[in-house]
Amino acid sequence: MPSIYEKYNLRKVINASGRMTILGVSTPKPEVADEVLFGLNQYFEMKDLVKKTGAYIAKLLGVDDAIVVSCASAGIAQSVAAVIVKDDSDLLLNLHSSDKQVPREIVIPKGHNVNFGAPVETMVTLGGGKVVEAGFANECSATQLAAKVTPQTAAILYIKSHHSVQKSMLTVADAAAVAKAYDLPLIVDAAAEEDLTAYYNMGADLVIYSGAKAIEGPTSGLVLGKKQYIEWVRLQGNGIGRAMKVGKEGILGLTLAIELYLTAKKETGQEMVEKMTPFINDLNAIAGISAKVVWDAAGRDIARAEITFDEQAIGKNTFEIMKLLKQGDTAIYFREYKANEGKVEADVRSVSAPQLDVISAAIRQLVSAK
Ligand SMILES: *Cc1c(COP(=O)(O)O)cnc(C)c1O
Repeated sequence: MPSIYEKYNLRKVINASGRMTILGVSTPKPEVADEVLFGLNQYFEMKDLVKKTGAYIAKLLGVDDAIVVSCASAGIAQSVAAVIVKDDSDLLLNLHSSDKQVPREIVIPKGHNVNFGAPVETMVTLGGGKVVEAGFANECSATQLAAKVTPQTAAILYIKSHHSVQKSMLTVADAAAVAKAYDLPLIVDAAAEEDLTAYYNMGADLVIYSGAKAIEGPTSGLVLGKKQYIEWVRLQGNGIGRAMKVGKEGILGLTLAIELYLTAKKETGQEMVEKMTPFINDLNAIAGISAKVVWDAAGRDIARAEITFDEQAIGKNTFEIMKLLKQGDTAIYFREYKANEGKVEADVRSVSAPQLDVISAAIRQLVSAK
């Protein structure tokens, strides 16, 4: 029997880039895969499944309430819709066509209006909101955020992410203080973040996570928050939420993945260093290549291998090298944020030791075949 890769003529992938949507994000644990399979094979009273798994997650995390959604992007759209619609049954069914005068402005620091693979603004618009930017491309203070609040403001949105501008930026707690002062909800998109309670505890009303990133669940998303707001997010299942429906398998898979995530022993940075040391030594033996351990710029306990290419000696620039490494029988992907400086990073968490050997062999071959 041909493999899936043969059947559809797909390239195999070695993922040294981290949790990337373009590569399928993560590979959930076998227990999670079993839970997904169980879910697929049963019927449930879906309203109950949504509510009771949400309550279960909330209890695990010590928050008011929670709901599993189809992905973090859907979580943003449904959270925005929730704070605009609330429990208005006409608006729920006519979110975009209704001309009822309700607050629809979503105030967001300008440096947070980013493209995470799709624009934040598109998700806000999908949720019936209108983005109002506060501050500047490179700064936003609490005062600058507050200056954009009007009677038309429905919520404040904060994007906690490496994608957004970090410099001269107010904190989540600062944004929560502004929201509180104006009696507005604060929505935090923490899609790729690892801490499932910090932003809630700082005063956010709704916090959104991507299910397959840090939590390593199936394709899904999590919205947690204050009781009234989660209730309104749940109502969106009969509104825009229907176009982003999450299945029983995703709900059960993410709920178990969260439970496992909270008790799992995390691979430490030091363990990552041990795993990548032979790989780094291999790379340093190749002419034109140097490699060393670097630590996560956002301060998380993640070590990565930084690989520097001597572009002149190799006769190719780093972008060309990256392109060639994606075109072999097995496509190899690195973190390319610094490729313009002749450097890439290898995140080894999803890479096995034999795969590390494949990577160094591919680089050696590419460098010697100039
Ligand atoms: C990944 C990401 C998203 C989207 O998450 P999905 O679950 O893929 O929809 C949204 N915001 C940020 C900051 C992200 O990193």
